[in-house]
Amino acid sequence: MKVAIIGGGLAGCALAHILDFVGVKPVIFESGPALASGASGNSLGLYNPRFTAERTPQSDFYASAFSAVLRRFERLEDIEFNPCGALHLINDEKKKKRFYQTVDSWGWMPETLTIVDADAASEIAGVELKHEAMYLPQSGYVSPAKLCKAYVEGIDYHVNAPKDAWRDMDADAVVLACGPAVRDYLPDLPIGTVRGQITEVATTKRSSKLKTAICYGGYMSPPVNDMHIVGSTFQRWLDHTDLVEQDDLDNLNKMADHIPGMDADMNVIGGRAALRAASKDHFPIVGRAPANDLGVDNLYVSVAHGSHGVLSSYMAAKLITDMITDRPYSQGLDTVKALSPERF
Ligand SMILES: Cc1cc2nc3c(=O)[nH]c(=O)nc-3n(C[C@H](O)[C@H](O)[C@H](O)COP(=O)(O)OP(=O)(O)OC[C@H]3O[C@@H](n4cnc5c(N)ncnc54)[C@H](O)[C@@H]3O)c2cc1C
Repeated sequence: MKVAIIGGGLAGCALAHILDFVGVKPVIFESGPALASGASGNSLGLYNPRFTAERTPQSDFYASAFSAVLRRFERLEDIEFNPCGALHLINDEKKKKRFYQTVDSWGWMPETLTIVDADAASEIAGVELKHEAMYLPQSGYVSPAKLCKAYVEGIDYHVNAPKDAWRDMDADAVVLACGPAVRDYLPDLPIGTVRGQITEVATTKRSSKLKTAICYGGYMSPPVNDMHIVGSTFQRWLDHTDLVEQDDLDNLNKMADHIPGMDADMNVIGGRAALRAASKDHFPIVGRAPANDLGVDNLYVSVAHGSHGVLSSYMAAKLITDMITDRPYSQGLDTVKALSPERF
């Protein structure tokens, strides 16, 4: 079997990786000048499930993705993978209720998901924190840009690909993994964009002590190559990818508000802005595409990975591979329905 994959970000590259593993030949067609030209091009991203208070078909998806990527990332080389742990600060009453419920209802062992008080959180983080936190010792960071490259090791891909280049391939199935550009192929899919900017800052004597990722609505990574990634903005109303100075200030002010002793005037040494694709119910759109005008029978989509694409792109890849190869689905039927492009 041959599968054409349109888009060379995390969704397309993860899918190519898993198809290749089961003996199907994937070819990626990426319109940009390199893989990871879109949202997946950040030098660092955190991997965290999207937390819900109750266990739902959606949380089943993220929970299984978390466990699957831990096993996979351990075996991939040069992806900056570091399961350094993540502390999700409980900085308001709403979050307190939700995170306590999450810990109760998700049913994970305390060694993998627990609540810690401010003293314990400070000890774990290596810097003083004022809030209790939900703690995931196995969470951490990876480089999305490097992950894309590692996923497609030994796999065919074309960059600068014209929009219809995949038509020459005579593929058995076609998968749209092109982020927001999926609207060019399936205009009825309810997808919007959410612009985001991350800020790269040089480490200081104090910030170098940070041992885990800290999440507080924004996030700060521990030091990686003498810098921290501080993220990120969410702007539905903007659709450009130019860097904006005010966004760096917003990221750093938020960080300084939540991590005592971190200065909002840390030295900014870089940054990156991109557009996330998001569906109207904030859950990825994964599965067989609805009837379409493209003249393709076996058409699938893996898009709308929002702000948790490191995890969701991998599990989506597994599910689409199950579908294309007629294997039993690796997700429950409720989750498959919740992901389906037909759900709208
Ligand atoms: C600032 C920011 C911070 C983030 N932080 C995190 C984080 O910490 N953790 C996390 O899990 N997620 C994070 N995300 C989200 C994550 O990056 C995305 O969910 C993920 O990259 C989506 O991958 P994708 O492959 O679906 O989309 P993309 O990476 O956008 O890939 C789509 C690709 O398709 C290509 N394309 C478009 N049109 C065509 C066409 N016609 N033909 C061929 N190719 C085409 C594009 O060039 C692009 O390379 C962040 C996103 C942003 C913007």
